[in-house]
Amino acid sequence: MSDHDNTPKSNEPPVSEPSITESLDRYRHSLEWESKFYMDTAALVETTCDRIGVDPNIKNRLLTPQRALIVSIPVRMDDGRVNNYIGYRVQHNNSLGPFKGGIRYHEEVNLGEVSALAMLMTFKTAVAGIPLGGAKGGIRIDPRPLSRAEKQRVTRRYTVEILNMIGPEQDIPAPDMGTDAQTMAWLMDTFSEMKGHAVPSVVTGKPILIGGSKGRTEATGYGVAYTTAAAAEHLGFDLQGKTVAIQGFGNVGTYAARKLSSMGMKVVAVSDVSGGIYNPDGLDINHVLKYVATRTYVKDYPRAEPINNTDLLTLDVDVLIPAALGGQIDADIARKLKCRILAEGANGPVTAEGNEVLKARQEEIFVVPDILANAGGVIVSYFEWVQGLQSFFWSAEEISERLFNIMEAAFRECINFKNKFQTDMRTATLMLGIHRVSEAMLTRGLFP
Ligand code: NAD
Repeated sequence: MSDHDNTPKSNEPPVSEPSITESLDRYRHSLEWESKFYMDTAALVETTCDRIGVDPNIKNRLLTPQRALIVSIPVRMDDGRVNNYIGYRVQHNNSLGPFKGGIRYHEEVNLGEVSALAMLMTFKTAVAGIPLGGAKGGIRIDPRPLSRAEKQRVTRRYTVEILNMIGPEQDIPAPDMGTDAQTMAWLMDTFSEMKGHAVPSVVTGKPILIGGSKGRTEATGYGVAYTTAAAAEHLGFDLQGKTVAIQGFGNVGTYAARKLSSMGMKVVAVSDVSGGIYNPDGLDINHVLKYVATRTYVKDYPRAEPINNTDLLTLDVDVLIPAALGGQIDADIARKLKCRILAEGANGPVTAEGNEVLKARQEEIFVVPDILANAGGVIVSYFEWVQGLQSFFWSAEEISERLFNIMEAAFRECINFKNKFQTDMRTATLMLGIHRVSEAMLTRGLFP
């Protein structure tokens, strides 16, 4: 069928009565900026700026993105219909280098969420000390029911809609929830077709065959494991034989689970969108991964008992890793947490109210905040970008050694800020990020 064939098909169901509820539901998203995640993140940035005495003009600039684009993405589905999806690309700050940030496909994506994530990216790259800014993108879509061809068409049309914003020197996307190396390959191919030549460095997290970096897929999960080990060392205990629970068993959760179990930890619980599984004697992660490879989800895994979301988060474990959605730990759950280390694989897993509780409990629970714990992904993305620009590729050993060194150095610098300002880990980490970005903004000056 031609892409332009809009004639109704005889086998299409009759058009139903227009529904006011559905219409109102669509417009619910016009309150995009009122997202709780965006407000929580901006409030955290604002109060942290005030604590370290950031110039008010710089602070105001940091509270909103530099640029935000909303696009509509019409896509021909396999059944011949055309669906229209809403997509975003938000560029928060590029004072330290080109914008950088993942692309999320999820049914809850909205402007506020993408903007909050873009803001977090700015400070994440700054904390890691890499010369990149902060951005984020996303499409409000549930990618799970889509066929491979539909996903490809969505990605290609989205790429064209944001084409003028991205590029190796401008803004470099990467995978996030619901997207992967294949998504980046389609994005890179579409961008290259539009430019008339291959531009591999327009994205990171692409397959190794077309210019991806060794170690990128596992980088975020491994980074979570490295910072967990650094936190345990800081607290004076050994991870060997200790327990960990992980919420989210996707890219970040699975690689964190693999790395921590190879370090001798007992992974007692994991979960995904289907539910959770728990075995107090420890799960055989390779066996769970084999099960998921054929069954997609952890649900009904035979060598464990089921566990719900709240019970998993509040398990009595040494380490808890949220590695799924944001906003999972509110004040109520924060009060019930029993872990010694909370290592945030996910972006924004703790609400502002949850964070207040955690601040009060900082002697009991050591937090490795998202912009430090999950920075491994953007660090190896940076390596991929550098390798791509030079067309010269590094070995897996070089990648993992450099990743480890950067993460360890960032962890130490956050501890220095924590000691210097006598504050909690999240505030200290954000202080470090804000300090670097605001100094760069002051040094560059105001245009014009
Ligand atoms: P993914 O899509 O690979 O996996 C997400 C996992 O979360 C899946 O297992 C899914 O089933 C599960 N999940 C979804 N809803 C859930 C729920 N309500 N309860 C329990 N589990 C649920 O995504 P990912 O790339 O692993 O990203 C996970 C988190 O890590 C996100 O917050 C993302 O922003 C963050 N992150 C990812 C990267 C990266 O490199 N992929 C880098 C930094 C941060």
